[in-house]
Amino acid sequence: SNRLFGGFRKTSEKLTENLTAVVGTAKLDDATLDDVEDALILSDLGPSAAARIRAKLAEQRFGLEITPQELKEAVAEEIASILRPVAKPLEITAFPRPQVILVIGVNGSGKTTTIAKMAHLFREDDYSVMLAAGDTFRAAAIGQLATWAERIDVPLVRGAEGGDPASIVFDAVRAATDQGIDALVVDTAGRLQNKRELMDELAKIRRVLGRINPEAPHDVVLVLDATNGQNALAQIDVFKEVAGVTGLVMTKLDGTARGGVLVAAAEQYGLPIHAIGVGEKIDDLRPFDPELVARVIA
Ligand code: GDP
Repeated sequence: SNRLFGGFRKTSEKLTENLTAVVGTAKLDDATLDDVEDALILSDLGPSAAARIRAKLAEQRFGLEITPQELKEAVAEEIASILRPVAKPLEITAFPRPQVILVIGVNGSGKTTTIAKMAHLFREDDYSVMLAAGDTFRAAAIGQLATWAERIDVPLVRGAEGGDPASIVFDAVRAATDQGIDALVVDTAGRLQNKRELMDELAKIRRVLGRINPEAPHDVVLVLDATNGQNALAQIDVFKEVAGVTGLVMTKLDGTARGGVLVAAAEQYGLPIHAIGVGEKIDDLRPFDPELVARVIA
């Protein structure tokens, strides 16, 4: 949890700074509540979560004196109550196997790295894993996934650059089924410049999967880069539309002061949050612990 703490350090510093700027020891009146709400918005929690936290504070403590420490604790408790309902680890439950996990997100969000980290976590839980290189648009993406696969010793199904992602996914499901693999994690293209193409490509992958197993894909995990702040939220809208999204992973929570966007995403979309990325190394994907994250952010 020290590493996690480190992961949110800048977000926490910023929110603390914004909150302590608000109150010395003050009566919680409308002006102070306005300032608290502004501080939360400045910390990327978004207008909706900020209004909710403000309302809760007003309900519990309006007119009472509050110290900066008490304010922090009250905000942390409200953040936890927003995060609790969405904290949901990605569990391997599919029967028959494999569980097919489609991973989507814009290029640069940390998708490939997250896939390797997920595979590593599954393996630590004694599940067998296979990867599929469905982002055939970028040769670099295939190469990067291959490097990770080799490093963590997980089989990879790949095709040529420019190949048909749906046919690679088809081959991968067949291989995973034959080999009794528990989890098949599929990388996909992430160019948003051409929404129509992306939509068609993901739809085709889903169609092929659905023919093999009507339950597949079992999960469609959207990877979001926290450093994008509120733009990460706009990506949820787009990907919900083009692909359907069953859950989120947010990356790069280390080194950014914009980690509050995690709270905004939880409040505005209510999608399960499976895990968070707090670094570039293989073990830098953490299960999403709402209590810990709330206490670390605020
Ligand atoms: P993709 O284009 O979406 O597949 O993104 P990559 O997996 O290639 O990641 C892009 C960059 O972000 C790489 O340099 C990764 O090492 C880095 N990255 C991914 N996740 C994290 C994270 O949680 N924290 C940090 N600091 N860097 C990350």
